[in-house]
Amino acid sequence: MKAVMVNEPGAVRVVDLPDPDPGPDEVVVRVGACGICGTDVHIIDGEFPPTVYPIVIGHEFGGVVTAIGENVKGFSVGDRVGVDPTLNCGACYYCQRGMGNLCERWNAVGVGHHPGGFAEYVSVPERIVYPIPEEMSMKAAALIEPVSCVVRGFHRLQPQTGETYLIYGAGPMGLLNAQVARYNGASLVALIDINPSRLERARNEFGFEHVATNLDEFKEIAPRGFDNVIEATGVTKVAEAAIDAVKRRGKLLLFGVCPPGEKASYDAFKIYNEEISILGTMAVLNSYGPAIDILSSGAIDTERMVTDTFSIDQFPEALVRVRSGQGLKVQVAGTSA
Ligand SMILES: [Zn+2]
Ligand SMILES: [Zn+2]
Repeated sequence: MKAVMVNEPGAVRVVDLPDPDPGPDEVVVRVGACGICGTDVHIIDGEFPPTVYPIVIGHEFGGVVTAIGENVKGFSVGDRVGVDPTLNCGACYYCQRGMGNLCERWNAVGVGHHPGGFAEYVSVPERIVYPIPEEMSMKAAALIEPVSCVVRGFHRLQPQTGETYLIYGAGPMGLLNAQVARYNGASLVALIDINPSRLERARNEFGFEHVATNLDEFKEIAPRGFDNVIEATGVTKVAEAAIDAVKRRGKLLLFGVCPPGEKASYDAFKIYNEEISILGTMAVLNSYGPAIDILSSGAIDTERMVTDTFSIDQFPEALVRVRSGQGLKVQVAGTSA
């Protein structure tokens, strides 16, 4: 089969590998679509410490079951599925306390040391495979994982119906956060981005009328700030400035992945005096199933979210497209429809 292999930082190529056979507890999935994420770019560039090279990358995918191991009870050949890439150990301090996303032996399909979804076939443990509705497209199936990261963020925020949101970044993750906020009963969803064409798309294609290139433009609609501010750029300076948008007793969610080691500074008095919460959210925890349900409900505009689709052979071109920052979600189509 064809697969996208990163041998070491900077060395990514499409290679031929033997088709995987399922282990006793595994399910082989013929990939239908796999999304490219910022983390894939970090792995290719050698900026993601947990990765063990060489690795077949890709962690946002769905497909169709083509083989099952002898112990697999829940799936049959032909089932349409999504795969939660999380491979927490289940036995460490955090796993035993229900915090598997913070596992001390953290691993994930296509990210840690398990082959991923930029391949024709992937073999994964049954426990991370989820059935998806018959009518869900493979495009949508490959969006479950990024949506499940957003759902995890909302589980951290615990927003109330009727609250207001400001999202920094109108890229793919900013727009997914915005759509989940709307679905969650927001009274106002505003977006900030430095790129006017992204704001235009947020307004014209996704119907978010409150968009701006800086916070001052929201003085009128949100004079006291926002209940929930979601940082979805991964730029430390933005994570720092975002505190100015938080209303008293509001929350700032650091969703974007800022470079390790960089420092943001906050006015500690303001955090104290205004009862502000600053929250982190890490990947996926009990949020893959809800993400399937949210996508099934139609709350996410799948067709508009996926702007580019390439074949596995075209992976280098797909990567150029991602790095250009121009489209939204870029996917690699597999052989399952
Ligand atoms: Zn990702
Ligand atoms: Zn663990």
